[in-house]
Amino acid sequence: MAEPFPLQPSLWATTAAPAADTPPLTGAVRADVCIVGGGYAGLSAALHLAEQGVGVVLLEAHEPGWGGSGRNGGQVIPGIKYDPSEIVAKFGPEGGRALTAFVGTTADLVFDLIERHGMDVPWVRNGWIQGAHTPAMLDTVKRRAAEWQAEGVAARVLTKAEANAAIGASQYLGGWLDPRGGGVQPLSYARGLARAALKAGAAIHGASPVTALARTANRFTLTTASGATVDAGRVLMATGGYTGDLIPKLRQTIIAPNSFMVATRPLGANLAASILPEGHVTSDTRQLLLYFRKDHTGRFLMGGRGPFREPTSESDWGHLERVIAKLYPQLAGTEFDHRWCGRVALTRDFLPHFHEPEPGLLIDIGCMGRGVGLQTAVGRAMANYVTSGKASALPFPITPITPLPLHALHKLYVSAIITWYRMTDGGVQAAA
Ligand SMILES: Cc1cc2nc3c(=O)[nH]c(=O)nc-3n(C[C@H](O)[C@H](O)[C@H](O)COP(=O)(O)OP(=O)(O)OC[C@H]3O[C@@H](n4cnc5c(N)ncnc54)[C@H](O)[C@@H]3O)c2cc1C
Repeated sequence: MAEPFPLQPSLWATTAAPAADTPPLTGAVRADVCIVGGGYAGLSAALHLAEQGVGVVLLEAHEPGWGGSGRNGGQVIPGIKYDPSEIVAKFGPEGGRALTAFVGTTADLVFDLIERHGMDVPWVRNGWIQGAHTPAMLDTVKRRAAEWQAEGVAARVLTKAEANAAIGASQYLGGWLDPRGGGVQPLSYARGLARAALKAGAAIHGASPVTALARTANRFTLTTASGATVDAGRVLMATGGYTGDLIPKLRQTIIAPNSFMVATRPLGANLAASILPEGHVTSDTRQLLLYFRKDHTGRFLMGGRGPFREPTSESDWGHLERVIAKLYPQLAGTEFDHRWCGRVALTRDFLPHFHEPEPGLLIDIGCMGRGVGLQTAVGRAMANYVTSGKASALPFPITPITPLPLHALHKLYVSAIITWYRMTDGGVQAAA
């Protein structure tokens, strides 16, 4: 059998603020609430519960931020896949208005938390640009900007010249600028949330994978791989794209492909000035979207979809490197010194789902490309649901666990879709 490909540490793992001490759970402990999963959702829930005086124990299989939360592009973008009018069409006038308000402020929450807790997190907030790659998508982003303007956001449509000047490229037909967006060092942010939660009184245990969850009278017992236990009144689960088989059929409600990222060595001053000169974070309108930015170390980084399987060699990042060469010819010859990937949790409707298969056990699953803000806000909402007992504290309705039909075939299906989109997306993707 071939040796597993030795994955490099992510850019974020090599440049993050140190982690707080989160030793594995030992023995048997009791808590008001036990949280499974130490990504943004679980950590934010722990912080907001502890701040309200609730006794919380968080169990994480590896270390806080090990999953998507420590591997992402660090783009803090408010909203969800759907524009305000689509949200209202889906959730009705009242629910839609409430959800639009919720998703519209997720980036604010991230930057507020960083400031309020004095987190050691490099951040920038000069806005997010979405570049349009076809005339039809240009119309879409113009409508999108207008819809958010109607919500009071100082969004701006960018002409072709403005978009390309801000991005430092020549391929976009225009775009829009959302001033609420920005960038963070994502693993430092996860670690900052963990530190803040610990300070507020939460207990956080790394290297503590939960392997069994049992109902005992009106409480729950969670057992870790080492045999340690938590006896908890309530359980919150937020295991994202790394969801296993703890809850029957839950893993079958998502597909969890890897998103791939590469980063260059730190750029020299002239090169850096030619790419995203004003420090915007960016993604585009392709089906297989590209997302890119510079970070606090002066590196250029880009992410996008890769093969569905786990990577087996550096060539699995080759398509991104070819895209970068097309988009920014000035980067020819610049070495890439980090290649990594992480799993996203895709639901059928591209929305996070809440399930409560039995009273006291609340599950959050499914978050696509806006998880830095959205999952932070979802974690706070879950905390408020626990303390208020009101389902209205949650931004989305609680629904039954419904596996995707023919889930086992999804790998094949997604691989075919990726190939198709590569062929049809146009511009830099198709050329790469
Ligand atoms: C490569 C990549 C790029 C992305 N780029 C962006 C971006 O630029 N902007 C943006 O907003 N979003 C981005 N995202 C999405 C974002 O990172 C996620 O939506 C978000 O981090 C999900 O947070 P989470 O808390 O739901 O899950 P995760 O951060 O994945 O955390 C789940 C945790 O649960 C733990 N776990 C699983 N099972 C168990 C168990 N049985 N016991 C204990 N612990 C368990 C895992 O170890 C993991 O740490 C990106 C994602 C990836 C992968």
